[in-house]
Amino acid sequence: MNLNSLQFDNAWMRLPEAFYSRVSPTTWRDTRVLDVSPLGAAQLDMDSDSIDRECLEALMAGRELLPGMAPIAQKYTGHQFGTYNPALGDGRGLLLGEAMTIQGAMDLHLKGAGQTPYSRFGDGRAVLRSSIREYLAGEAMSGLGIPTTTALAVAINGERVMRERVEPGATLLRLSPSHARFGHVEWLYQRRKTEDMQALLWHLIHRHRPEFAEAERPFEAFFADAVERTANLIAAWQAYGFVHAVMNTDNMSLLGLTLDYGPYAFMERYKPDWTPNHTDAGGRYAFDQQPGVGLWNLTVLAQSLTPLIDVERLRGMLDEYEPTLQSTYAQLMRARLGLTAKKDDDHSPGDASLTAAWLKLLEQHQADFHNAFRALGNYRSDADSRWQLANALEIAPEDKALETWLDDYDRRLQQESRGAEARKLAMDAVNPCYVLRTHLAQEVIEAAEAGDSAPLRCFRERLASPFSRHVGDGDDWFLPPAITAPPVCLSCSS
Ligand code: AMP
Ligand code: MG
Repeated sequence: MNLNSLQFDNAWMRLPEAFYSRVSPTTWRDTRVLDVSPLGAAQLDMDSDSIDRECLEALMAGRELLPGMAPIAQKYTGHQFGTYNPALGDGRGLLLGEAMTIQGAMDLHLKGAGQTPYSRFGDGRAVLRSSIREYLAGEAMSGLGIPTTTALAVAINGERVMRERVEPGATLLRLSPSHARFGHVEWLYQRRKTEDMQALLWHLIHRHRPEFAEAERPFEAFFADAVERTANLIAAWQAYGFVHAVMNTDNMSLLGLTLDYGPYAFMERYKPDWTPNHTDAGGRYAFDQQPGVGLWNLTVLAQSLTPLIDVERLRGMLDEYEPTLQSTYAQLMRARLGLTAKKDDDHSPGDASLTAAWLKLLEQHQADFHNAFRALGNYRSDADSRWQLANALEIAPEDKALETWLDDYDRRLQQESRGAEARKLAMDAVNPCYVLRTHLAQEVIEAAEAGDSAPLRCFRERLASPFSRHVGDGDDWFLPPAITAPPVCLSCSS
């Protein structure tokens, strides 16, 4: 199967006209595809090696479309840093078409496709740096099993784009079953377009959640599902140290996917109130704020749905958010700590306190979040491995807090039915050895800017299967940035 044989059924265009504007992509010169993702290709029922590069390049240059595509910019609004902004929409990306695949619909969205009626003051362009960061994020999140948009490919072009500095232009061919956002519903609520809101919800139900079409109250089933998926998504972010950093409601997916990667980062040295976004001085979207912001955003969505769903019932469904998030988080953390038995806090030590004390330990010693879990997999409840673990965490072996925690952990392990070897295998399957570290992404970006895309491919391969070590890899892939290294500066400008 090749790109030209994709079948499109552009359902978004059957929604009322106010939902979108028809816009053709701008053509960029000297476009060159840097990498094609096997994972993205598989989502289109294709093999990345057999994709026609010329055809892909023409598509990503904005020069040609595939048969059946009909590009549009989607209209939406949203709350940005707590303030409603009615002027949003696809400002630099276009939905080129909705492909029908074996698994269902798949949006092909070209990010960096030029200006649209929603560009406001923006130039409609994407730079290579952010395009590579978004490309790698899709791979890393998929590798970890966290719901996300992905991408088929990333391409550099010959444009020079002005940001904090002049940067090479780029396009990203993003894939998602849908780009429907909380902000789509907010916009219809603010405009008092109840019928259009119904049309949107029916579209989403028929195409993405057909099982709800037969429910007694289909819209409620859809909202309850959005609550549950958002709770599970944010639980996974917290368990894996992911900071989205711009959780505005226009960046929240109605399907519960991680959407719109900007100044995101994976937490490295553990610091819960940290955000990688230098423009978020108040820390609104810091790591430890994410669960609360998820609820805030869902509350805005619930408010927007009041023309269609009874307020008390919306409240009842929102009440499910926190327990769902807590329980998924606890389950993920149990797995990451190598525990199978579930123990509540009547038990000593219970899951919650064991997890909290572990995180406290990492925080106190500024240990690397990811390597710490991986190292714990090698722990064998003896003096030798206590010493090795302390070393890996960069904590003195005689540290009292570490000793106390390991005593508790030993007691928990004694109640487990599986042995150390089985525990290690299970832990290695959920604790990645390859992590999308910002400084590594930056190295890959700098190499690509200088004309070498081999490191990009290499990193992408590792992130897509992050749990098993590739033969021959040296330490460079695993070390956190030196504590003295200046942080890579990330902002919303992309
Ligand atoms: P973001 O924070 O990346 O989710 O973007 C917020 C809004 O600004 C969205 O409506 C984007 O489409 C728009 N936007 C961001 N960057 C640009 C740009 N360079 N040109 C036009 N619109 C942009
Ligand atoms: Mg956005």
